[in-house]
Amino acid sequence: MNITEYYSETDGAAVYRGKMSLKQNYTIVNADESIYRYVGVNSARPVTVLVHPDDLPSFKEAMDKLSDGTQRLILRFLGSDGNYRYMYAIMKYNGRMVEDFRSIDIELMDIMRIYCEYDQSYNAVLKYKKFMSASDKMYFEYSYGDENITIFEYMDGRSVGRFKENIHTVMKKVSEGDTYTFKQKAEFGVLYECLTNFSDSIELEVDGVVFGMSGVRLKIKGGVLYRDDDRNMMAAVITKYNIDDDKEEKYYMTSYALDSSTGLYNKRAISELSRDMIAEANGKDIYVIILDIDDFKSFNDNFGHMMGDKVIAKISEVIRNVVGNRGYAGRIGGDEFFIITDRVQNEDELIYMLKTIRKNIDWQFDKIIKSVEVNLSIGIAKYPNDATGYDELFKIADKCLYIAKAKGKNRFIIYNPQLYASVVRSEDDKYNTVAKLSDNKYQICQ
Ligand code: GH3
Ligand code: MG
Repeated sequence: MNITEYYSETDGAAVYRGKMSLKQNYTIVNADESIYRYVGVNSARPVTVLVHPDDLPSFKEAMDKLSDGTQRLILRFLGSDGNYRYMYAIMKYNGRMVEDFRSIDIELMDIMRIYCEYDQSYNAVLKYKKFMSASDKMYFEYSYGDENITIFEYMDGRSVGRFKENIHTVMKKVSEGDTYTFKQKAEFGVLYECLTNFSDSIELEVDGVVFGMSGVRLKIKGGVLYRDDDRNMMAAVITKYNIDDDKEEKYYMTSYALDSSTGLYNKRAISELSRDMIAEANGKDIYVIILDIDDFKSFNDNFGHMMGDKVIAKISEVIRNVVGNRGYAGRIGGDEFFIITDRVQNEDELIYMLKTIRKNIDWQFDKIIKSVEVNLSIGIAKYPNDATGYDELFKIADKCLYIAKAKGKNRFIIYNPQLYASVVRSEDDKYNTVAKLSDNKYQICQ
């Protein structure tokens, strides 16, 4: 039987596929047209009434297991014509609270439709295998589960492995001893950091020799694939080219300098740019600012990684817009940002800038998620007053950030040698003043 034809929507056979969201008592709070069409007048009833009684125990069991992640099962679901159809259901929390209830999304798919899509997907896979075989690219995978890097290429419709090893083993091999040059080590270090610090995307270059391919440079570009809201793998395409004489170009001026999911400079770019700015400052004031989202882990746990990613993108946009042409902003870790500015007149203007970031973030998230606050903790150091080298300034700002976290988060600390010197330069945990943001958002109190 040709299911594709038989169930094609054009010949009038109804195929249902859609999503609904549930509120208290498992009643539908929102659904798409296909679901409403299928459920008809029953749309006001709890879905527990619509699931076939024999399938209800497994449905309830799946509901109880939602905190473990997405649940999938096949169940019979009542249509408006009084008949049950077998449906494939994918269920998960959608990150919203509706009247104190953790709202649930249920995606329903007609079983017949799934067969038809399977057929189409299979054909699509064959097609892409052909494309991949015709291309001279290699493919890069990093699995967040077993932390292995795999490189392969496609020949004649089949994948051919080129490299496979645990990332930490490679890191150890590359960083120890002097088999590899400083540059080779540094480049692999950036890749290592991106992958182990959960960058959303990568676009960088390494020397092929670290993967056993000498004489070639590898441009690696790709992004994260999720499964059930968790990072599953980093999938990237590798473009290979032969090493010729390297022209020394500033990294932060290249197309690799931007973190593609946020548009901010990546860590390497913003650090190199900051070093250059500081080297050329001639005593002109520069502020180095590190910002970290508060309790972002629990945000992810509650609302899912996808929502977390949106928050990161929004915060980045706010930071970029507020900083404007007064300096540069980067993303230096998953939920960690960096600003360097040599164009704020004084501390008042700096505080005003931070307050604006705070207010704009409040405004953005008021529109997206009403029930949570997204807060930042911030540490700040100033050149040349606090230190004259980038590394030292970074260390001081980072320590101030640590103090802000320890003091209850949602605040900023501007380094003050009289107040924090002992803290910053030692691990002493006693400090007696804080800059507090929480009540009056971004106020210093001493
Ligand atoms: P703290 O207030 O101490 O900063 O707590 P925290 O939970 O934010 O902890 P920490 O900064 O140590 O951890 C950052 C968390 O941010 C870890 C990870 O779950 C999450 N995260 C990092 N990068 C990303 C990302 O790209 N997307 C999403 N959704 N989450 C990320
Ligand atoms: Mg954090």
